[in-house]
Amino acid sequence: MTAMTTQQVWQATLGELELSLSKANFTTWFKSTFISAIEGERVVISVPNTFTKTWLEKKYHAAIVKSLQQILNSPIREVLYRVEVKTQPEAQPETKIKQTAASAETRLDAALEIPEVREAPPAQNEFGLRSAYIFENFIVGKGSELAHAAARAVVDNPGTKYNPLFIYGGVGLGKTHILQAIGHALLARNPATRILYATCEQFTNDFINAVRSGRGKEFKDRYRNVDLLLIDDIQFITGKEGTQEEFFHTFNALHQANKQVILTSDRPPKAIPALENRLLSRMEWGMIADITPPDLETRIAILKTKCSERGTPLTEEILHEIAATVASNVRELEGALNKVVAYHQFKNLQVTVESTRNILAGFSQNQGKKSVTAKQLLQTVSLYFDIRIEDLLGKSREKQMVVPRQIAAFLMRRELSHSFPAIGNALGGRDHTTAMHACDKISREVETNQKLKQDIELLRERIYAV
Ligand code: ADP
Ligand code: MG
Repeated sequence: MTAMTTQQVWQATLGELELSLSKANFTTWFKSTFISAIEGERVVISVPNTFTKTWLEKKYHAAIVKSLQQILNSPIREVLYRVEVKTQPEAQPETKIKQTAASAETRLDAALEIPEVREAPPAQNEFGLRSAYIFENFIVGKGSELAHAAARAVVDNPGTKYNPLFIYGGVGLGKTHILQAIGHALLARNPATRILYATCEQFTNDFINAVRSGRGKEFKDRYRNVDLLLIDDIQFITGKEGTQEEFFHTFNALHQANKQVILTSDRPPKAIPALENRLLSRMEWGMIADITPPDLETRIAILKTKCSERGTPLTEEILHEIAATVASNVRELEGALNKVVAYHQFKNLQVTVESTRNILAGFSQNQGKKSVTAKQLLQTVSLYFDIRIEDLLGKSREKQMVVPRQIAAFLMRRELSHSFPAIGNALGGRDHTTAMHACDKISREVETNQKLKQDIELLRERIYAV
């Protein structure tokens, strides 16, 4: 083996690892890592914090060892992860604190977000945080593990390492719940914590009104004198230049003061259209965590908790039936449960699997999915891969274009059930055999290629979220 520097070894290893991970995961976990020593058969990897250390040990250790062995072309006995503390000082957000209440509009705004399935208006605290949205009520499954762990880490160490925390995922998967849970938890630690929860629309409206009425200072005071800023559904900032600029400054002010910022979105920062570069880069500074739909087991666990919260026990069999029928998201799952319970209470009947099935007949697999056009799908794919739509549909044979093109074909087939000639046509007038070949290739590869699988899962979510 020709001698490589440790840096080259790590670069090459990262190159390997990158192939099997989603972009978000790769950046999150490997961004600030390096090899600090190779001592015989032992490799020491430096990581920026304990959270990353745990995650690498827990999730990626085997992959790291394997890639390192390949690159070094020699057996490795041990890989250690060592936290090397960087320069950033630990903030003390608990010290200088003054209470400010969220405005009536913030509360109203949060109240308007009540999902339809809720019968009574849910209780909220003075900051517009819904009292039910606490960690104790959140069931952690595979799909939410990362976001949950990140949220916990922020509670333990606000304003420092994971700033901002950016949580993204499809509708009804618990983003708002986790976001507000962080607020509750920090408030429980220190009741004087100043919190501001606002939806992106609220932020936008506040800003526009402030400009209009010449009350810019009030706006700044309100958004910048907090310890914790929670902005929900930040994707709606797309295209709003003035608001983006203001948010950029708000973010900088808070970040510099080591105040924690948490954002949620239905898609990763890169996929938010018309987002200023400098804002995009800020969003990617801290920690990005995604939430994907809960698996069957988690759905059953969620239903169980919801049942015991309400004191409406249902048998395991019935819960299984509901969980198996409604797979899309947690909000719909709750809706289905409510429907089943309400129906039986109303009719004064015993709940059976049979009757549950009848009640949920309307909740088909595709329920909740809206119809998507080929054009929207192509737009989503081009945004996701960061390539221009002309290039996606163009003649280029570069892998960078070809793979997204094939994925687009695959998704048009699977999600939109388009015919092969129609797919070929939509993809810049290609032949139907090209479309067929593309679909075949992706269906085969998706079985073995983890990264491709993740890309497609993410894309699917994005397609229906748009
Ligand atoms: P999002 O903001 O991602 O659209 P929400 O946070 O509003 O989703 O969640 C929708 C509903 O589902 C809420 O009532 C929330 O409490 C519930 N929910 C979502 N995920 C979970 C979970 N993992 N455990 C328990 N409840 C959940
Ligand atoms: Mg939400």
